[in-house]
Amino acid sequence: MTTPRKLHIKSYGCQMNVYDAQRMVDTLAPEGFVETDSADEADLVILNTCHIREKASEKVYSELGRLRVMKDDAARSGRQMNIAVAGCVAQAEGEEIIRRAPVVDVVVGPQSYHHLPQLLARAKSAGRALETEFPLDDKFGFLPAPTRQAIRARGISAFVTVQEGCDKFCTFCVVPYTRGAEVSRPVARIIDDVKRLVDNGVREISVIGQNVNAYHGEGPDGRPWPLGRLMHRIAEIPGVERLRYSTSHPRDVDDSLIEAHRDLPALMPFVHLPVQSGSDRILAAMNRKHTADDYRAVIDRFRDARQDIAFSSDFIVGFPGETEEDFSATLALVTQIGYAAAYSFKYSPRPGTPAADMQETVSPEVMDERLERLQILIDSQQSAFNLAAIGTTVDVLFERPARNEGQIVGRTAYLQPAHVMASPDIIGKVLPVRIESLERYSLLGRLASPAAIAQRAPMTSGA
Ligand code: SF4
Repeated sequence: MTTPRKLHIKSYGCQMNVYDAQRMVDTLAPEGFVETDSADEADLVILNTCHIREKASEKVYSELGRLRVMKDDAARSGRQMNIAVAGCVAQAEGEEIIRRAPVVDVVVGPQSYHHLPQLLARAKSAGRALETEFPLDDKFGFLPAPTRQAIRARGISAFVTVQEGCDKFCTFCVVPYTRGAEVSRPVARIIDDVKRLVDNGVREISVIGQNVNAYHGEGPDGRPWPLGRLMHRIAEIPGVERLRYSTSHPRDVDDSLIEAHRDLPALMPFVHLPVQSGSDRILAAMNRKHTADDYRAVIDRFRDARQDIAFSSDFIVGFPGETEEDFSATLALVTQIGYAAAYSFKYSPRPGTPAADMQETVSPEVMDERLERLQILIDSQQSAFNLAAIGTTVDVLFERPARNEGQIVGRTAYLQPAHVMASPDIIGKVLPVRIESLERYSLLGRLASPAAIAQRAPMTSGA
């Protein structure tokens, strides 16, 4: 038997990258690779990069500088270390990575990582290997299924990619260039993946895609199925306790998705629906293809279908041309919707995107000041939402032992962490918890008595 080789993956960015990193581990497991937490001792280090944040490429190059030192140390002790760069920076930079960082052995785009074993073999014989085209073969058809052991080690909540890429071309975003056009996986393959996960202890499925509600994969009837119909099918699988999806575009919210929220208790009433700005002028400059009122109308449709639904969103502050009036419209939208959580960022240009060439930039001081005002508003809404849980009894899916001895931590329907003193036997179960206090963003409570369960308010309400 050959000695296992050690693999270290450092993943940046979104849920898609977390999922991709797991699938890289699955792809390399048959080649004898086992995961390690330490880059120092790895035979293969993969940087699974993200292009969304500011100066993403520069951060990758400085990380590669640190890895070069490690690779030299390994060589001095007679050990070979290979370095691969994957993800969206790999896609965007391509050969430039090898030119600027000759320490890199393999560059692989997000659509090609199922070819990692071949690329490593090519790098061994040719010194370097690069693949950043969008290959004709379907990556998902070639990825080996995760082992039983790998699924169990990853916990009771799992991601399943159902859709990749984006055709929307928001003017600030690199995704359409790095991940390519929208592609949806067939329903049958997704169902196989979910069954395998649930058979091995997974209880919560988060289906993911860059533009997940643009999903239109082929159903068993040969027709394209919308996301809502897929949700209904997944919810039928015994063992699926909770179902989530992200990230959605307001324009692609259709009746099937609204009906899924109305009809499926397993579909969690917490929707991440990015809006980016509350100003129609800025939304048009961003090419978001919807107005602030369109967004409000979508929110109303969700709320009509399920009254306990809550929302999170993404905001960009200081997009080129944003005036104080535009920014006030964003604050007004946030005030009106009332979010349970939201992510907000200062605009920063991504090379190659149309917005990067826009001239009317907002000064850093103004951006800082606006971001602070927005974050104060969002924080106050999030605190109010969390405080409202105190004194109520909520369902919690328990995930793992907490850091504090004797405590087990889980998540509410709204992804709030909730801690109770209990035996680890409750891991993997959804149980009612009486919430007693709040510590920063975590809820603290106790398992509710059977009487409390009987008195618990229903979580759902029909349209
Ligand atoms: S919809 Fe989302 S992924 Fe697509 S271009 Fe816009 S921001 Fe990027």
